[in-house]
Amino acid sequence: MADRVFNFNPGPATLPYEVLQQAGRDVVNFKNTGMGLIEISHRSKEFIAVCQETETNLRELMGIPANYKVLFLQGGASSQFFMVPMNLLGPGKKAAYLNTGVWSKKAIKEAKLFGAIDVAYSSEELGFRRVPRSGEYKVADDAEYLYYVSNNTIYGTQFPDVPQSDKMLVSDMSSDILSRPIDVSKFGLIFAGAQKNLGPAGVTLVIIREDLLERSPANIPTMLAYKTHAEKESMFNTPPCFAIYIMGEVLKWLKKLGGVDAVAKMNAEKASRLYAAMDASDYYRGHADKDSRSLMNVPFNLPTKELEAKFLAEATALGLCGLKGHRSLGGCRASIYNAFPLEGVVKLTEFMADFAAKNPAP
Ligand SMILES: *Cc1c(COP(=O)(O)O)cnc(C)c1O
Repeated sequence: MADRVFNFNPGPATLPYEVLQQAGRDVVNFKNTGMGLIEISHRSKEFIAVCQETETNLRELMGIPANYKVLFLQGGASSQFFMVPMNLLGPGKKAAYLNTGVWSKKAIKEAKLFGAIDVAYSSEELGFRRVPRSGEYKVADDAEYLYYVSNNTIYGTQFPDVPQSDKMLVSDMSSDILSRPIDVSKFGLIFAGAQKNLGPAGVTLVIIREDLLERSPANIPTMLAYKTHAEKESMFNTPPCFAIYIMGEVLKWLKKLGGVDAVAKMNAEKASRLYAAMDASDYYRGHADKDSRSLMNVPFNLPTKELEAKFLAEATALGLCGLKGHRSLGGCRASIYNAFPLEGVVKLTEFMADFAAKNPAP
């Protein structure tokens, strides 16, 4: 562990060390088969057991009701931007979207290919600094669903609660899934690319209410219909075996930690320490409005670009890595997902105080 740094990357992101160690062994020889995990058939009893255990643990951790299907798909979260409207809309059908950042904007663009899209709220003119409260927007009566991105990875905003709506909710939870408890029964569909909070890139988790499987138009490609994957338990074609396996190990780790309630407490502690360090002076300026702050991604700026470059270089030298901000905001961003340890946040806040003292704003 001596050579490990604190990895603040936004995704792919840090994973539990014990998961990486176990994966290293299983890649070489999985369950004494004499074959590595990524060499065995996806239809072998060993791999089917991996899939089943992963699904069982996910259902338990998230409290997924029995009338929902869990799918392990490919194509990234970005493919869900079109799969959702392709399957749930159609000519003459409408959906409402909340535009709170890059990822919702991309989803809106794709959705417009498949139906009438009502952008019920947008914080774009506010620089995506906030998310709306329920009641700040109106959802059209004839909308099939209300779509939102629960955590805006780039702008560092997060819905503090599930929006109140009588509409079926659809949510992109790529960057905060399993970071706090949610009531799955309020949703028609939840999706998440794995590479932030669940595992490595390559698998996209979809949780879909069973009755929606029948909604897909008949003329869409087989691979793009949710029903195809639901009927074949994500084995219609070769699934992303390695990514599913790692997700399974991450879920086992999360269970050992005490589940979603326990990790939510740890996440709140990490975020509150980091925001306290930022709020201690006006040296570090956060991007998000205080009431919209994300517990997962914390973008911030320093007084000048030169100081930002110096900050990033010195941080990296101390083993605080991956803090460079997204190209659309510049500056810095600390991503502190489930697997990111509290001690890394403590080390960052100490460095922040030290750096501000030694490098006064011009
Ligand atoms: C990273 C991210 C995506 C894109 O995920 P891909 O798997 O790269 O397509 C979509 N939505 C959110 C909220 C993200 O953080």
